[in-house]
Amino acid sequence: MQEQVSSLRKKFQDELKTVQHSKEVEQLKVKYLGKKGPIQDLMLHLRDTPQEMRPQLGQQINALKEEISQLCEQALQGLSQAEQALRLAEESTDITLPGRHGHLGRKHPIAKVMQEVIDILTGMSFSVQYGPDIDTDYYNYEGLNFPPDHPARDMQDTFYITKEILLRSHTSNTQLRVMETHKPPIRIIAPGTCYRNETISSRSHVFFHQIEGLYIDEKVTFADLFATMQELWSKLFQTQVKTRFRPSYFPFVEPGLEVDIACVSCEGKGCRLCKQTGWLEICGAGMVHPEVLKSGGIDPERYSGYAWGMGIERLTMLRYGITDIRMFTENDLRFLEQF
Ligand SMILES: [Zn+2]
Repeated sequence: MQEQVSSLRKKFQDELKTVQHSKEVEQLKVKYLGKKGPIQDLMLHLRDTPQEMRPQLGQQINALKEEISQLCEQALQGLSQAEQALRLAEESTDITLPGRHGHLGRKHPIAKVMQEVIDILTGMSFSVQYGPDIDTDYYNYEGLNFPPDHPARDMQDTFYITKEILLRSHTSNTQLRVMETHKPPIRIIAPGTCYRNETISSRSHVFFHQIEGLYIDEKVTFADLFATMQELWSKLFQTQVKTRFRPSYFPFVEPGLEVDIACVSCEGKGCRLCKQTGWLEICGAGMVHPEVLKSGGIDPERYSGYAWGMGIERLTMLRYGITDIRMFTENDLRFLEQF
């Protein structure tokens, strides 16, 4: 019996040496000290030993039981400390690791150029106003000096929702709204989306973006318009850009004109971009028609003004050498990632 106790001690000690996790210690403890374990077994067999041996053997078994319990406790403490240290080491931040690159979005080239133009013009004391995309015929046409049967309406095929409600064909629909609610001097720009019922091709689309400019005050002249244009294009193309006016026709301006700038690619010498003319059409403009001022409740005898409307798609295409307007709406990442 005494031998059984010492061999059990030896066996336990050997097994304890092999444990690596606190879980295994727990299992070992249950294995030796549990109800069906070897210690309990020895206790049961005490009965079979001679009477006089029992107290001594009982003590020995109890001592072993106590010893196993203590050793397990010690091993448990040591291991759980080591395990905690290991966990902390795993969780700690390694500041030498290279960072993960997040996928940053980019601004659409149209939004980018639009914001650039807005920044330049707000820097020139123009404030930003927004008109509605869905508007009445009055604000889009009639109030801007397009009578119902005016041939100019054929120039722009319009998306009519009803006979009176339409998708605006230009950002000029903001002009009257601003005149109705502001007193001169008025100096605003109106960025936005416009819609025209056109065949989609490399040069035209059913929707596009414009920035409208409007300046109304006493004694506003062509010279003011010219200076503003000159300043705007020079700032946008970051070089002194030559500007010229050509007579044109828009019902809401009188006189109306096309603004050209010296070709930014060949500087006026003639190239493919400017079709060898040395000039690029950049926007439509003119002096606000007296009838439009009247519609807006502004006295044309006292006030005059100029207005212009520029297409952002065309500008962006010139800026980046893009030759197909459809690229802007195809959502092709290979294209968009370049900006
Ligand atoms: Zn050119």
